[in-house]
Amino acid sequence: MAVQVNTFDQLRDATAALASDSDAHFLGGGTLLVRQLFAGKLGAPTLIRCSDRGLREIRASASRVFIGAGVTMAEVAAHGDLAYLHVAAKSIGGPAVRNMATVGGNLFAPYPHGDFAVALLALDATVAVQSGYSPRDIPLESFLESRQSDRRSVVVGVTFRRPDGAGALRFLKATRTRTQGPSVLTIAAYLPQSGRRLSSPRVAYGAMAATAMRAKAVEAALNGKSLDEAGIADALAVAGQGCTPQSDPIVSEWYRKEVLPVHLKQLLLG
Ligand SMILES: Cc1cc2nc3c(=O)[nH]c(=O)nc-3n(C[C@H](O)[C@H](O)[C@H](O)COP(=O)(O)OP(=O)(O)OC[C@H]3O[C@@H](n4cnc5c(N)ncnc54)[C@H](O)[C@@H]3O)c2cc1C
Repeated sequence: MAVQVNTFDQLRDATAALASDSDAHFLGGGTLLVRQLFAGKLGAPTLIRCSDRGLREIRASASRVFIGAGVTMAEVAAHGDLAYLHVAAKSIGGPAVRNMATVGGNLFAPYPHGDFAVALLALDATVAVQSGYSPRDIPLESFLESRQSDRRSVVVGVTFRRPDGAGALRFLKATRTRTQGPSVLTIAAYLPQSGRRLSSPRVAYGAMAATAMRAKAVEAALNGKSLDEAGIADALAVAGQGCTPQSDPIVSEWYRKEVLPVHLKQLLLG
């Protein structure tokens, strides 16, 4: 198996190389890609690495946050301005995985992975993507729908509005193992309130569909309600709407659907 690794200093050169070679794969931290390589699933590929500093940047202003695609989960979990994302970053694998696993790679993680993307979806993130010389921003929800069809682009980073209040973003990952394991299900909820009523909440699930998904029926049922037993009752009733979970060696599709409202209630009532 001959593997060629090409490293580029500049993003534009990396994107050009990726676009010009149909056997090329962009290498993030390699926690998924290198496994695929060793399993013989990639043939004899070219791996494209990029050391452009922009991919490793975290820029957190009072209102907007940018996280470069090459930032690792360990770096997110250690960053003082990203406290609301620490639980999500720390939920991914063990320390060795978190030291390598990148934010960009997580957007491509196959089912049931992609836990960080769930938190980003609840934050209404956009994905900055570059193909050739043309950058563009795509809402994360659209990006996840089309991620398999566009493998010639490089994800540069993600941007979102900084959430109001430290506890405004809630994150829960249910697993079957005591340490962080693959997700039974993951829920992230951004719950801004106005006068003790929820105002345009955003709720996202992981492992409840092929990729991270918005729970739009839940969001609609929560809007304008209070965060108490009575206020969340309608949301729990529609918790499973639009969900298409899969059975895997961890749990069955049935189990995922059964426990979803239980975990959603736990997350919402804190
Ligand atoms: C033991 C173990 C435990 C794990 N546990 C979890 C877990 O609990 N939760 C979870 O969500 N994931 C988990 N994962 C999966 C994985 O580690 C993470 O999802 C991680 O974030 C993937 O990032 P990476 O940088 O390693 O991706 P890579 O392996 O480098 O790449 C994965 C895919 O994304 C593409 N890609 C990567 N970066 C870019 C970019 N900037 N632009 C375009 N394409 C890109 C690659 O070409 C490849 O197709 C686990 C993996 C292992 C091995």
